[in-house]
Amino acid sequence: MSAALHFPASVRVIERGWLSANNVLLFDGDEATLIDSGYVSHAAQTLALVRAGLDGRSLARLINTHSHSDHIGGNAAVQRTFGCSITIPSGMADAVANWDEDALLLSTAAQQGERFVATGLLDAGEHFIAGELAWQAVAVPGHDMDALAYYNPERRILISGDALWRDGFGILFADVLGRGDGLGEARRALEAIGRLAVDAVIPGHGAPFSDFDAALERAFARLRAFEDDGARMARNAIRGCVTFALLDARRMALEDLPRYLAETPLYREANARFLGLGAEALADWLVRELERAGVAHREGVDLVAS
Ligand SMILES: [Zn+2]
Repeated sequence: MSAALHFPASVRVIERGWLSANNVLLFDGDEATLIDSGYVSHAAQTLALVRAGLDGRSLARLINTHSHSDHIGGNAAVQRTFGCSITIPSGMADAVANWDEDALLLSTAAQQGERFVATGLLDAGEHFIAGELAWQAVAVPGHDMDALAYYNPERRILISGDALWRDGFGILFADVLGRGDGLGEARRALEAIGRLAVDAVIPGHGAPFSDFDAALERAFARLRAFEDDGARMARNAIRGCVTFALLDARRMALEDLPRYLAETPLYREANARFLGLGAEALADWLVRELERAGVAHREGVDLVAS
């Protein structure tokens, strides 16, 4: 599907993996805007990719879709290197200004970040010009309650962040942590973007895609499955976040895993609220799941990213 996508020359998608979110460069003459900056441990790679993409242009502005570590991790390094401004969704303002590692889900999920200073805020309904296109900020709460997607009606492009992927959406942390109604918010967000005319989606992870309606259908099906079975949602969250941690660390000692799961608030809450497993049982289930999914394997005393 993505092979059929043609973006204007002013729009350049840098597809990353799952540890670092995709980056989008939007060109206006000799200046550029960057959407999202990847994970902190990939900052050098992000800088190199952005520098190559800029091809001599200057980076005027960085705009985030939401506040998670894989989207804001390179913000500080990008700002230091290119001297750009940083605009964030307004709902993130306090968490970023106070560098609230719990609200940013850094300490909550045992993830890393680097503090940065936001120079501007963006509200849902506001517009900005980037890549010679007018983008509308659309509220897409759920995965992150303050997340924004960016929509260009003229070319019918949606930069969706983690609110909509080709197959699913980002973890509904609020529900897993017992902090809010991410399911309800995600449903309303998907309904809202479902009313937009979209020919191309640039997701936070994975290749850009054109089959918007099918992706929405899959996302709604996943929401229904999570609404019907909270344990499934919790298992999905644990699997996803440990996979993320393994992508960064590459390996973890198997004997440390039960304690890691018990001490990291996200896993502790997900287990306590939805699964009720003992520490060893949770770790055993997780290792089997990650091996079955082909994302990790046992290597001696370690669990290693495959
Ligand atoms: Zn992400």
